[in-house]
This record gives sequence, structure tokens and C-alpha cells, in this order.
Amino acid sequence: MREHDRLFIGGEWTAPAGTGVIEVVSPHTEEVIGRVPEGTEADIDAAVAAARRAFDHGPWPRLTPAERAEALGRLSAIYAERQQEMADLVTAEMGSPILFSIFGQAALPQMVLQYYTDLAATFTWEEERAGMLGPVAVTREPVGVVAAIYPWNVPQFTLMMKLAPALVAGCTVVAKPSPETPLDGFLLAEWIKEAGIPEGVVNIVPAGREVGAHLVAHPGVDKVAFTGSTAAGRKIGAVCGERLRPATLELGGKSAAIILEDADLAATIEGFKMASLMNNGEACAAQTRILAPRGRYEEVADALAQMVAGLAVGDPADYGTEIGPLVARRQQERVEDYIRIGQDEGAKLITGGLTRPHDRGWYVAPTVFGEVSNDMRIAREEIFGPVLALIPYDGEDDAVRIANDSDYGLGGSVWTADVAHGVEVARRIRTGSCGVNMYILDPNTPFGGYKDSGLGRELGPEGLSAYLEHKAIARPA
Ligand code: NAD
Repeated sequence: MREHDRLFIGGEWTAPAGTGVIEVVSPHTEEVIGRVPEGTEADIDAAVAAARRAFDHGPWPRLTPAERAEALGRLSAIYAERQQEMADLVTAEMGSPILFSIFGQAALPQMVLQYYTDLAATFTWEEERAGMLGPVAVTREPVGVVAAIYPWNVPQFTLMMKLAPALVAGCTVVAKPSPETPLDGFLLAEWIKEAGIPEGVVNIVPAGREVGAHLVAHPGVDKVAFTGSTAAGRKIGAVCGERLRPATLELGGKSAAIILEDADLAATIEGFKMASLMNNGEACAAQTRILAPRGRYEEVADALAQMVAGLAVGDPADYGTEIGPLVARRQQERVEDYIRIGQDEGAKLITGGLTRPHDRGWYVAPTVFGEVSNDMRIAREEIFGPVLALIPYDGEDDAVRIANDSDYGLGGSVWTADVAHGVEVARRIRTGSCGVNMYILDPNTPFGGYKDSGLGRELGPEGLSAYLEHKAIARPA
């Protein structure tokens, strides 16, 4: 049981303004495993004021990138040493299978932090260009106070994709975790304090969406970085548009995995355990539309059904578990609703369905629908659970057309024996990232969405530029 009665504001553990409490419930046992104060608008005001002070008057933005990197290196070292604790905590909070957590909920965020810490040394912070009347210094300055709002599915990763580049840039941050997963943010706050990051540079206030909306609209905030649903992203983008403040929006997806005629089916199906079903299918970039050539459709359907039916579903803390419980009862019911919708739309249930694998905990049976047509809701809407839609196609152009026939444009993959040809097909997919015979996000390459999947990019040097203002200072020759 983890109990916190204070919020991390201005570098101190600060008494909350309100009396509300967020109870964190284990998705596996349905028992309360932690309590934290529920942030209010007054807490956000205090956090923004602290971040504002730290930005306008504190040392952080005035340090050199190398000095900031030194401080972040200390945080990264603590993170590296204690990442198992983080993995265990996120698994307890939201049900991510521990083997995935060790990588996706702990090692990967630490790698992102280390990547930006190292990038400080090689990034072009300032350059000289020849202007019409004389030389021009092009400088990069921190954008200011950043609101970082992130979801529960990969809380540390989605936070670190914002926090690490923002801090290297010299920004200060108010982070708002989701109420489902506040505990990992408190653990990170302890490490931030231990690393000696100056006061007010990072503030963490867990709260619900109304308080999140207050943060987005706050006049003290210079930039919003948001990961979450497309519906919330639209609202946040509209507020930022009205305020003329930059926003990075990482939103939903309905990505396609294209199996080409020559694909090694056994390897491909094995690859879907990660590409399509990582983190219980609660992954924005999960490839949940599986596109199979009509000539191999039956073969693919059989192999996919067999793999999915054989997944070990159970206690996420167990190292043998491949699919854990979903984050909340609400999410379990949402995914089950989509299973009903798929059946009503006439898709063929080839494995899984509405029988719950366990009586206790928010489990859903991993499910595959066959004979799905791309205009069905189960092919168009993000389900955010272990439910796959198998769609037949006729020829490569048809596969590309179906993959691109989506409101979203986040991820994707191509599975083939001819990697060079796979890359050519990947170039035709209108998404921010695409893999050949795999799907992975690397800290040094950009990640983000086309279309309804969002605006802007995180990770890579592109993800650092998002926290910088570019300024030209001209002078006489
Ligand atoms: P959500 O949009 O409901 O909430 C995300 C976060 O935003 C939470 O912290 C929530 O409290 C806050 N929020 C919601 N509405 C807000 C508003 N109007 N103003 C300010 N804050 C607001 O999403 P969720 O259900 O928590 O997460 C699942 C969604 O996140 C999925 O759609 C998934 O695809 C998306 N996601 C996207 C990525 C990506 O990088 N593209 C990564 C992970 C998750």
C-alpha cells in the first residue's frame, strides 16, 4: 500500500488545497493499493506559479545545456538503478504484464531520459547564418512553462517523452498524471528531489480531466504537451489555438499490419504478440487491423487464432503472463461492448469473445474477428484492448489503400521476406511511423501521428525542437 498525503509542488512535498483523495485500485485484485491527494484547480495554480517562478527567475533556464544534462544525468542514474521498482509499481497500478513493464514502463522511459541527456552535447543550440545585411545568430531558447498531460497506459513513457526534452531545453514543467496511475509519478518525484533538480522545475499534480482543462487554459502556461484520446486532443488543440500557444498532441490510432504474400507466417504471427498485443492491447500504436492476402487468408486466420487463444492471461505480476487485466472496469466494459459491436456488424468471431477468463479482475479474453470489412466500427474505432480485426485484401495496392483508409495515422507494419520491398510499401503508408517485420519506437527517431492521430512529433531531435523557440539575432557585418 502506497499512501501519499502531499503533492510535489515547488520542489517540496506540499499539502494539497482540497480534501479529495484518489484511490488506486489493482486491476487484478480490485483492491485499493494506494491513495494520493486529488489535485484541484488551486493546486494547479500553485504548481504553475512555482513553474513560472522557476522559469522566470530560477537557475534552470539560465544553465548551459551541459549543466542541465549533468543534473539530468544524476536523475537518469537513479532511474537506471531503480527501474525494477518502477516496473513493479506500474504493473500494480494498471495491469501491464511485468515482462512488458520492465521494458516499456521503466527501461524505455529511462532510455529516453538518457537519450536527451546525451543529446545536449551534440544538438545545435546556436548557429551563425549569413544574412542580407550581416551575420545572424540563430538561437534556440526554451519555450517556457510546459503543461504535460498524459494517459494511464504507458504513464512513465508518455511523461518522459515530454519531460526529458523539455528539461534539456530549459523549460519548467507541470505534469498531470491520469487518476488511474498517479503512483509512478510520485516515485519519479522522489528521484527528481534526490537528483537535486532545482525547485519548481518539475511539479506533479494528479487530477481528473476538468482540472486538466484548467491547466491547459492557464495563462501561465506557454506550451501544452498532451498524450491521450483524439476527443480530448481536439478540445485541447482548440484551447491552444484560441490562446495561440503551441501544442504537441499524441492521440489515438488504428494501425494496420500488412502481411505480404511472401511473409514468413510463423515469425509474423509471433511478431504480433508485441506489435499488436503489447501492454494488453492498451497501446496507441498497436497494429489492431491485420491485413492478409486473400490467397493466404485461411492460413493466417488459423495461425492468428491459435496464437491468440494460447496467450497466458492472468496476474500481471507473474513472469509467465502475456495478457493482464485492463486498467479499469470501465475499460473492460468498453472492450466487451466492441466485441458485441463486432458480432452485430457480422464479423466472424474466430477466438475469444465475451467469456471472461477470470471472475475477479478486469480481464477480457484476447479476441480475433475474421472476415472484417474496413468500414466496420471494429476496423475504424480505437478499441484499446486485446481485440484484433483480420481483413482480407486483393493485391498490394488494395492493402495500401485499406491501411490508409483510416481517420488515424499513427503506426503500422509490413511483414515480408523482402525487407527492401517492405520499406517501399512502408513509404506508401500515411502514418508517423511504420516497421518492417517489427514495430518499435526508438528514443532517437520521431514518433507521432498524421491525421486524427495528432500534431507534432515526440522523441529524436524533433522532440527537442518542440520545446524550443527559434530566434534570429541580426547584427551589422
Ligand atoms: P484521455 O484523453 O481520456 O485522457 C488522457 C489524459 O488527459 C488524462 O490525464 C486525462 O485526465 C486528461 N484529459 C482528458 N480530457 C482533458 C481535457 N479536456 N483537458 C485536459 N486534460 C484532459 O485518454 P485515456 O483514456 O486516459 O488514454 C487512452 C488514450 O490515449 C487512447 O486514445 C490512446 O490511443 C491515447 N494514447 C496515445 C498515445 C500516443 O502517443 N499517440 C500514447 C498512449 C495513449
